[in-house]
Amino acid sequence: MRLVTFENQFGKTRLGVLTPRGVLDLRAEAQSAGLPQDNFQGMKEFLEAGKPAMKLVESLVKAETTKNFFALGEVQLRAPVPRPGKIVAVGLNYRDHFMETGLSELPKSPLIFAKFPTSICGPGDDIVIPAADANVDFEAELAVVLGRRGKCISAEKALEYVVGYMPLNDVSARRWQFADKQWVRGKSCDTFCPTGPYLTTRDEVPDAHALAVSTRVNGEVMQSSNTSNLIFGIPELIEYISASITLEPGDIIATGTPAGVGAFRKPPVFLKAGDIVEVEIEKLGILRNQVA
Ligand code: ZN
Repeated sequence: MRLVTFENQFGKTRLGVLTPRGVLDLRAEAQSAGLPQDNFQGMKEFLEAGKPAMKLVESLVKAETTKNFFALGEVQLRAPVPRPGKIVAVGLNYRDHFMETGLSELPKSPLIFAKFPTSICGPGDDIVIPAADANVDFEAELAVVLGRRGKCISAEKALEYVVGYMPLNDVSARRWQFADKQWVRGKSCDTFCPTGPYLTTRDEVPDAHALAVSTRVNGEVMQSSNTSNLIFGIPELIEYISASITLEPGDIIATGTPAGVGAFRKPPVFLKAGDIVEVEIEKLGILRNQVA
């Protein structure tokens, strides 16, 4: 399934699922069907409700009587998880990106850092340049969304904790990232974490380590790789992070970016107002944002 958070024509934010008939408003549908609506208030409430809520959505989508659909053009898609508890990001996690940085030794363990939840924005939202000299760059990434709470999760069991995947742009102010002793300011500016357009559930992605990943800026391909180039795969990342940090439903892991980012191009390329940035991941859709 393709789960979405959308704004309807009355400006209300709703949880939905994308179907061939349009976007199904899950709360309205639960109400029509005489079902409790608590689990459909938003993406986080839905994910916390776990498998029974997911099964219920599957049956609602299939039901002939289902009627609370909107055409895609009638709604505005928002970030699928509007306010995750945390965003754990991974640096230098693609072989091709590692090569372009000029570093010599592959990392022995994942390099993790945080992006603040307030950096989240959705498809179609502006990426706002915070200062003229910030050197704002793009990073196409596969985002993993957690569907269960867990700590000390083994790599073998890790995928059971994943509810699905989505494209994510780990927008970075390179001047601040490289000038500060650590990355949080350069990575957590408002609008620096576009996600979406939808959250594709794990059952539709048989192998998350074999997906084409690309970035286009104004139609020109800047990054083109595959998640098969990940140094640490999703199970290893979940095992590593959860060894000391509780992961919760709605948490996002940004798994790292491949080669081709603006900062390492010769000459460097940084985003400017008016640019259109598209992050595309095979099976997961195109995340498009403009720069302001
Ligand atoms: Zn990144």
